[in-house]
Amino acid sequence: MTVAEPRALFIDHAGVLGGAELSLLDVATAFGARAEVVLLTDGPFRMALEARGVAVSVVPLGALQQVKKSTRLPSPAALADTVRVARRVAKHASTHTVLCANSQKAFVVAVAAGLIAGRPVVWHLRDILAPPHFSRTNITAAVTLANLRAARIIANSRATADAFIAAGGRESLVRVVHNGIDPAPFDAIDDLAAVATRRQLGVPPRAYLVAMFGRFHEWKGQQVLLDALAKVPDVHALIVGAPLFGEEAFDSALKAQATRLGLHGRVHFLGFRADVPLLMRTADVIVHASVYPEPFGRVIVEGMLAGRPVIAARAGGVIEIVIDGDTGVLVTPGDSSALAQAIEALRADPAGAAAMAERGRAHARHGFSLQAMVRGVSDALAGLD
Ligand code: UDP
Repeated sequence: MTVAEPRALFIDHAGVLGGAELSLLDVATAFGARAEVVLLTDGPFRMALEARGVAVSVVPLGALQQVKKSTRLPSPAALADTVRVARRVAKHASTHTVLCANSQKAFVVAVAAGLIAGRPVVWHLRDILAPPHFSRTNITAAVTLANLRAARIIANSRATADAFIAAGGRESLVRVVHNGIDPAPFDAIDDLAAVATRRQLGVPPRAYLVAMFGRFHEWKGQQVLLDALAKVPDVHALIVGAPLFGEEAFDSALKAQATRLGLHGRVHFLGFRADVPLLMRTADVIVHASVYPEPFGRVIVEGMLAGRPVIAARAGGVIEIVIDGDTGVLVTPGDSSALAQAIEALRADPAGAAAMAERGRAHARHGFSLQAMVRGVSDALAGLD
C-alpha cells in the first residue's frame, strides 16, 4: 500500500526571516500546490513565500504575541487570543490532510485549530527545549501538549530530539530530519564578484577575513567573536545579521564592545543581508560561536557549501554536522581564546584549510541535501489520519 502525499497547512508565528522560516520556505516551495502557509505575523517572510509562489495568508496574533520563551504562565487574554486565532486557522485546514507547526507558539495555535478542524498536528521542532532557551514552565507546558496532541514531532537534529525526550517528551513521536540546504546559490557565485564585494565593503585585499552570520542575540555569541578579534590584531570580520526579535539593546552593547576593544575599521557590521552565499565567498573563514547549544545551525552547512573552512561551537546539533579537524574545527562555546587560536591555525595553514573546506563541501552536499529534508518532512507528515 502506498501512502498518499500529504497536503500540509504550515503555521509559523514569525514574519521575519530566521533560520526556521528560511527552512520552511524551502519545504513549502518544494511541496508546491500541496502546501499552504499561515503566518501569525506579517513581514518579509510573507513576501518571500509569495515570491516563490507559495499560497500564504496572515492571521495576526493579539495578546499571544506578548508570550515569550521565558514567560512562566500565559495570561487569560493570551489564551482567549489562541482560540480566536485557531478558529481562523482551522478554516484554512479543510483542504489539508495535516497541520504542521514551525514554532512553539504556532504549535499551540495548531493544536487548537487541529481540534476544531479534526486534523492531525505535527510539530516541526527547531528549538532545544531546555533552559536557558526556555523557562521550565514553558517547557513543561509544551512537552505535555505535545505528548497529548502531537501526531508526530519532526526534530531538526538528534540534539533537539534528545532535549525533547529528556524533558519528558514521548520518544515514539520523534523523527529526526536534518535541515537541508540547496547548494545552487553557493555554486552560482563567481569569485570575481566576491573580490569586488570585498572591495566595496572596505576590506583591504590582503586582509584575513572571517565572517559570522546570524540574528543578533547573546546566545548566538557575536560578543565572543569580538573578544577573539581583539586577540588576532590584523584579522577583519564581517558580522552579518540583525536583531530579529527585539534584541536592540544587545545590538547597541555589541557595537559599544567593538569600540571599547578598539576594533574600529576591522569589524564590519552589515545588518541583515539577503546575499549570504556571496558574502560567505568573500570571507576566508566562517565562524559560528553560539554560547548555548545550537539546535542545528544552518550557517555551518552554508559555510561548507560556500567552500570555506568553518569554525563552530561544540554543542547541540553542531556536533552532528562538523567532524572536528576533518570537515571543520570545533571549539568550546564561549571560549574566545580557543576561537582566536582556531582562526590563527587556519590562517597559518592555507593548504590545510582549503582541503578541510573541500571535505566540508562534499560532506554538506551529501549529508544535508534539500531533497533529503523535503522527503523526510513529507514522509513524517504522511499517513497520520
Ligand atoms: N541569514 C540571512 N541573513 C543574515 C543573517 C542570517 O539570510 O543577515 C540566514 C542564514 O544564512 C541562515 C539563517 O539566517 O540560513 C540562520 O539559520 P541558523 O540555523 O543558523 O540560526 P537560527 O536563526 O535558526 O537560530
